[in-house]
Amino acid sequence: MRHHQYLMIPGPTPVPQTVALAGAAPMINHRGPEFGELLKETTRGVQQILKTSNTVLTFPAAGTGAMEAAAVNLMTPGERVLVGVAGEFGARFAEILRVGGADVATVKSEPGYPVSSEAIRDALRKDPSITTVVVTHNETSTGVTMDLPGIRAAIDREDVLFVVDAVSSAGAVDIETDGWGIDVLVTASQKALMCPPGLAFVAVSPKAWDRVEKTRARSVYFSFANARKFLEKPTPQTPYTPAVSLLFSLREAVRQIFAEGPDAVFARHALLARATRAGMRALGLELLAADEWASNTVTAVKLPAGVDGHRLLGALRDRYGVILAGGMGELAGKIFRIGHVGAVSWSDIVVTLSALQMALSSLGVKAAHGAAVAAAERVFSEHGWPL
Ligand SMILES: *Cc1c(COP(=O)(O)O)cnc(C)c1O
Repeated sequence: MRHHQYLMIPGPTPVPQTVALAGAAPMINHRGPEFGELLKETTRGVQQILKTSNTVLTFPAAGTGAMEAAAVNLMTPGERVLVGVAGEFGARFAEILRVGGADVATVKSEPGYPVSSEAIRDALRKDPSITTVVVTHNETSTGVTMDLPGIRAAIDREDVLFVVDAVSSAGAVDIETDGWGIDVLVTASQKALMCPPGLAFVAVSPKAWDRVEKTRARSVYFSFANARKFLEKPTPQTPYTPAVSLLFSLREAVRQIFAEGPDAVFARHALLARATRAGMRALGLELLAADEWASNTVTAVKLPAGVDGHRLLGALRDRYGVILAGGMGELAGKIFRIGHVGAVSWSDIVVTLSALQMALSSLGVKAAHGAAVAAAERVFSEHGWPL
C-alpha cells in the first residue's frame, strides 16, 4: 500500500492543494495589468505578514539567492560585517558575504544555543569599523530562534545596518520588521508561506536604501535599485521574467494566511512546537535546544545512543510515510529534525509522534506505546485546540 506522505521537514513544506492548483492557471503577460495586480497583491500580503511598510522585492530564486542579493547590494568590497552564527545557515550567510568581498567577523554560539545580544554588543564595541550586523532569526539546522529585539537593542550605533535571515520563520513566527528596526529581511516561499520553492523576498528599509544607493551593485539580476524601479512603475512588474505561476500560488497562500489570521497562524506554530517537544520528552529523547529559545518551526532532537540516524529516518519514511530531516554539518548523525512549519496541523504531529514511537521501538529504544501521542494530546487539550 502507498502511504499518504507526511512531509515533516523544515522546507520545502506541504503545499495545500488550493495553492498548488492556483499555480496551474493559464500564463499571462508579465508586463500587463493582470500581472501588475498580482504583484501588487502578493507584495502587499508579504509586507503585512512581515509587519513592514518597507519595499518588498520579489526574485525568482531560492532563499540563498535572497541572501546573496542582500550581500551584493549592501557590501562594498572590504566592508566590515559582523555575522552571528548559530549553525549552518548563519555560516552560509558569512560565506556568501566573504565570497562577495566583505571583511567578515563572526560571533558563534554552541550548537543548540542562540547568539546572545551581549556577544553582539561586545563585538560591536571592540570594532567600530563594523557597518552591518547579520543574524539568522531561526537557525533551522539547530532549531534555535534568536532574540531579534534584544540584538537590535545591542546595536547602539545609528550607522549600522541590521540584516536578518528569516527564511524559516517569516509567516510562522511574529516578526515586527519595522517595530524592531530590521533594515533588510530575507525570506522565501517554500517554508511558512506554504508555496513551492522558487520565490525569494527581500524587505529593504529607507536606511538600507541609502546604503544601496552608495553601493555599486555587483549584480545585474539581483539589482535592488532596478527591481524597485520596475515595482514602482504604474503597472508593477519585475526587470526580468518573473515566476508567474509561483506568484499565482503565493497569492492564494497569502489569502489563506489572512483567512486564518496571522496571529492564529503564529499561535498554531507555537502550539505544534510545544506538542512536538512534549512528545519527544515522553519518548525519553533529549532536545538540542532549551525551551526558552526552541524554534516554533523546527525541533532538533538528539539521536538516542546506538540509534543510526539513517536507519531511523529510513524506517519512518518506508514504513510510515513520515519524512523527517537529519542533522546538517557537524550535527550530521547526531540529531534528527522535525519540521512543523506552514500547512501543518495537530493531526500531522500526532502521526509523526506515533510513527517515531514505533520506529524507535523497532530499533530497540524502549518507550511505552502511545506515550508521545498522549503527551501531545495533553498539550492540545490544555491549550484548547483548536485555537
Ligand atoms: C531554508 C533556509 C534558507 C534558504 O534555503 P534555500 O535552500 O536557499 O531556499 C536560508 N536560511 C534559513 C534559516 C533557512 O532555513
